[in-house]
Formats: sequence, structure tokens, C-alpha cells
Amino acid sequence: MQKLPITRSEPDEHGHWGKFGGRYVPETLVAPLEALTKEFSRARNDSDFWRELSQLLCDYCGRPTPLFHAQRLTAHAGGAQIYLKREDVLHTGAHKINNAMGQALLARRMGKRRIIAETGAGQHGVATATVCALFGMRCIIYMGAEDMRRQALNVFRMRLLGAEVVTVHAGARTLKDAINEALRDWVAHVHDTYYLLGSALGPHPYPLMVREFQRVIGREAREQILSATGKLPRVLIACVGGGSNAIGLFHPFISDESVRLIGVEAGGHGKSLGQHAARFHNGAASGGGRVGVLQGTMSYILQDESGQIPTTHSISAGLDYAAIGPEHAFLHDSGRAEYIYASDAEALEGFSVCAELEGIIPALESSHAIMPAIRIAHELPRHAAIVVNLSGRGDKDVQLVAELQTQ
Ligand SMILES: *Cc1c(COP(=O)(O)O)cnc(C)c1O
Repeated sequence: MQKLPITRSEPDEHGHWGKFGGRYVPETLVAPLEALTKEFSRARNDSDFWRELSQLLCDYCGRPTPLFHAQRLTAHAGGAQIYLKREDVLHTGAHKINNAMGQALLARRMGKRRIIAETGAGQHGVATATVCALFGMRCIIYMGAEDMRRQALNVFRMRLLGAEVVTVHAGARTLKDAINEALRDWVAHVHDTYYLLGSALGPHPYPLMVREFQRVIGREAREQILSATGKLPRVLIACVGGGSNAIGLFHPFISDESVRLIGVEAGGHGKSLGQHAARFHNGAASGGGRVGVLQGTMSYILQDESGQIPTTHSISAGLDYAAIGPEHAFLHDSGRAEYIYASDAEALEGFSVCAELEGIIPALESSHAIMPAIRIAHELPRHAAIVVNLSGRGDKDVQLVAELQTQ
């Protein structure tokens, strides 16, 4: 059957994009999620809310971020003009602050003074601790013991910002286990606690809400590329962990059918389960990414034959997760967006190429999009443009890369 082209991507009132998304949670969380959905809908239609958020994003976070014409990368690729959307220049170093700021304002509207969050690499934890310091809110961050060991500097940063970091010893002691612990906390303290989720994941309304807070990336990029080139880009490309920076860039272009949307997953260091985090690229045959439910939402999830969630691997902690946000699952199945993957080695190459040719050290997450962008640009004419989302800066990764180079 021929598929109709997708020109919009909005969930129904229960947060379903087709079969994806929804709200698969214990009974005790239904009422608080319902209250959150109501408050978010009110805020979404309140121009005062958006005005205050824009002001903070501008004065405190550093928006609008530049759209930079990367001329040496362009010459290196030998094709389309490459533009970098510079989310890396934001306060705290990545796009995550856009969402943390939006949700903190929402928590304040709801009268909640205790904020909980979970973090893998620590980037979302740092963004959350930052906005909590700004608003004088109590902040508790759940983090796996293994991640705390790997990301000691971010743990110290969160503590400097006044947050309490709680060590999670369960399971593999990484992100998935930290999320379980945060959900448990929320169940026990719903009356005064706000759960500040870090990506376009989890039960409704989080995937929609996080997208709405990250859409500013695509709205700015659309205006900036139109004013720089007078036309729409041919391609948008972004790395995909849970999917928030990618959906933030893609969404304002969904109805522009001529614009290709390309998400890059973490290909890790092999194709077997456990060696990567490419949810769309390890089909049922090898027991990899299949439709299922994880942590409140239906999407593509890496799982073994019996539905157990395996450990995942990526050189970048921010892409190292078994599930992808439900809206991406919908865009994938509908054919509106394409998903490819880049290996750890390609990410390291992209990291160096971007540093050497443009003087910009990107986060290892963002680095996954660089080599694919060069390949795609090479196949396009010079008058075409391609926008790469530079979701974060690489300061946090310099030590890891240095260790790998001396091995
Ligand atoms: C967390 C993170 C990501 C991955 O999260 P998404 O929700 O997929 O955007 C990507 N880049 C950076 C720099 C991050 O910190």
C-alpha cells in the first residue's frame, strides 16, 4: 500500500502517535500525569508563560544560538553547504537547558518546590541542578553508581550547584536503573514533587512537552537558513539518543516535504545486542530493536528474544539508551524521517574533523552526525544546504578521547 506523505506529527489527546507513545504507568502515577498534562496545556496556550521562558532562554541561556556556515567542512565534503546549529554554545553546554528551563517554569506554576531527575552522563542532571539553583528549588538527582564513577566531574558540578546526588546500585547501575529509582521516588512524593524528565521519552505528556520546549531549535534554524540562503535546506541531520535535540530541530520542518530529516543513532562497536544503541537497526532476526513498552511509553526498544532489556553501548553516554522517543518511532514507520547509525570510530573521526577544520570541539553525541553529514553533503549540489545540529560541546569528552588516543 502506498503511504501518504506525512505533513504533520501531533499525538492524540492520550499522547499516541499512531500506536506509539501513550502512558504505561502504575495506577498511582495516572492522576499526577493527568494534572501535569492539564497544566502543560494551559501553559502552552498562555503567552505570558512563553514570554517569560523566551526571556530566560535569551538572557540566561544564550539564545538564539547561531547558525554557522562551516566553510572548511563544506570544502572538505565537496558538495552541499554545511551549516551548524550551535546548541553547543548554550549555558551548561548543550540543548538540555532548553527543556530544563521550560519544565522548571512549569513546576513553579504548579507550586512544586522539590524537583527530581535522573541522569546518565550527568548532562541533564547538571541542567536540572542549574535551573533549580536559579529558582531556589530543592533538587534531587538519581544516578547509577557506574555512571557516577565514569562522570565524576559532573557529579561534582551538580553538588556545587546545590543538588543532592543519590547513588543507584540496582541493575547495571546506569541510566535505566536511575529512571526506575526516580519513578519510585515520584510515586512516594507526588504531592510536592515534580519529575523533570530529560528527553522526548516516558509517559504522556513528557514526549510532547519536551518536544515543545526543544522546538525553539528548529524554529530559529528555519528562520536563520531562510535568511542566509533564501530557501529551505535539503537535509537536517541530528544525533538521536532519546530524541529531544533531533525532534526539536525536525519538528518545525515536518510539513516541508522537500526537507529530508535524518536521525543518527549510536552504532557502537558492533552489530550484536549489547554492542550498540541503534534501536531501528537490529531487527527481530537478531532479537534487537522491536516495538515494545519501556518506562511508560511504547516505541522501538532494544530487547532480547524474551523481551529482556539488554545493556547498550555507545562511546557517548548521552546516546546510550535502549529506547527511542515515540514520535521518532512514528516518523520512522511513516517514512517521514530516516534513521541511520554511526559507529564509535566514526564519531571519533567526526569529533576530530570538526575540531581541526572549524575550531569547534563537539560533544561525542553530536559528533555522530558529522561524518554522515559530510557523506550526504558530498552527494548534493553546491547550491543545496544541509543543517547539522551541534547538540552540545565536547569539553566533557576531552579526557575520554585523550585516554583513547594513548591506548
Ligand atoms: C543528552 C544529549 C544528547 C542525547 O539526547 P537527545 O534527547 O537525543 O537529544 C545528545 N547530545 C548531547 C550533547 C547531549 O547532552
